[in-house]
Amino acid sequence: MRNAISPTRVEDYPEWYQQVIKAADLAENSEVRGCMVIKPWGYSLWENIQRCLDKMFRDTGHRNAYFPLFIPLSYMEKEAEHVEGFAKECAVVTHHRLEPGENGGLVPAGPLQEPLIIRPTSETIIGAAFSRWVQSYRDLPLLINQWANVVRWELRTRLFLRTAEFLWQEGHTVHATEQEAVDETLQMLDVYADFCENFMAVPVIKGRKTASERFPGAVETYCIEAMMQDQKALQAGTSHFLGQNFSRASNIKFQDENSQESFAWTTSWGVSTRLVGALIMAHGDDDGLVMPPRIAASHIAIIPMLNKEEIKDQVLEYCDDLVAKLKEINYYGTNIRVEYDKRDTSSGQRTWEWIKKGVPIRIEVGGRELEEGNVFMGRRDKGPKDKKAMAKDEFVASVTDILDDIHNNLFTRAKKFRKENTKKIDDKDEFYKFFTPENKKKPEIHGGFALCHWSGDADVEEQVKKDLKVTIRCIPLDDDGEEGKCIISGKPSKQRVIFGKAY
Ligand code: AMP
Repeated sequence: MRNAISPTRVEDYPEWYQQVIKAADLAENSEVRGCMVIKPWGYSLWENIQRCLDKMFRDTGHRNAYFPLFIPLSYMEKEAEHVEGFAKECAVVTHHRLEPGENGGLVPAGPLQEPLIIRPTSETIIGAAFSRWVQSYRDLPLLINQWANVVRWELRTRLFLRTAEFLWQEGHTVHATEQEAVDETLQMLDVYADFCENFMAVPVIKGRKTASERFPGAVETYCIEAMMQDQKALQAGTSHFLGQNFSRASNIKFQDENSQESFAWTTSWGVSTRLVGALIMAHGDDDGLVMPPRIAASHIAIIPMLNKEEIKDQVLEYCDDLVAKLKEINYYGTNIRVEYDKRDTSSGQRTWEWIKKGVPIRIEVGGRELEEGNVFMGRRDKGPKDKKAMAKDEFVASVTDILDDIHNNLFTRAKKFRKENTKKIDDKDEFYKFFTPENKKKPEIHGGFALCHWSGDADVEEQVKKDLKVTIRCIPLDDDGEEGKCIISGKPSKQRVIFGKAY
């Protein structure tokens, strides 16, 4: 049987990804280079991600606020590493109006005295506000989050994964002590890992970045890394311990209990619309999108079979009742979302549409179901032909269990996949072979996560990146303490790190 998506994942993974986005109607490229249009089905996924994360942020004491889109150039310049890291990706506003040009049309006019940067991240502008808000130890900790768009002039873009403008949240916190700030950084990393695994069903590895992959201006960057179905790594979220770098740059000072003045300790952390890309690539199959139930745009598609005129009204009545009952059920903080698809097309056509769009459960109802008091149910985590009849009441009573079962199945599947494609490697030749496709012209899906010893040499990282386009994805936090020798240099190493190709 032909699959709904062509090419398949094995045939051409990058193209498969584009085709899933198209078939599921999630987003499209816009006229503006690197910027996407997020369509309603895709935006619903982002809204559900937002809603769940927002609750987790509130539950850990954070409050939302909003800061300006524009950052004065001089603010960006305050933290030397920060400006250096982001300079190449900054969109700059230099004029404040348009005037008729010499050859018709409009031209920018009214040069700004100081150019404005469109925020690539908001440490500096939020820091300026924090320096006003923080005076005393009594003002701390200050725990703020912002939901916003940011712009990074990325050269190679891909829908959701890397766009020039993207939606995200950025947490920014201020603390009286170093320890508190470090604890906050790690707490938010845990929140991200918890969210990815328990809402998106995407297993992640928590770790620390090496110096070369650190956020510009951070003392330490922590991350969660996930494996996609082409065995590549995706950085799904980051949490930065900023030390006193940004409080010095923005002058965030406080008086302690003894009226001594000192610089505060800050953190920042973010996840973006990239998470939508992560769930497409972690769960999608050759028939399209597979949505993890807890953040699914919709949980259930109800497809009445309306081809027999004489029972049409009865089928609809039967489905009306089912829809009403389902919509009353709560699942992870919201009522069950139902697509009641009464369109005048064949039930097969409607079924395939919802398969491609990744709805976790499909229900078909025809004359037979009506007679027997059943529903005919298909689960998106199973094959399109794998359907079973169930008593209608039983289905309603067990629908949240079925959704949970789908979640668990997706998570277990993704974890198994990661395990099968993760290898401890101690031999340099084997390492190079692991990351080299056999046919360079048509690189098949290959590689994965290589767990190898590394002594901490930046030269080794550089070498491996140049030779294989492989980077150290992270230094895992759950280290087993095994010592060894660097896979490339042979120097003593205290722990294994994860090497992989990354998005
Ligand atoms: P950062 O501020 O660089 O630590 O980025 C925070 C998070 O935003 C990262 O962990 C990524 O998941 C995500 N991100 C970074 N750049 C992009 C981009 N161009 N498009 C989408 N998401 C991004």
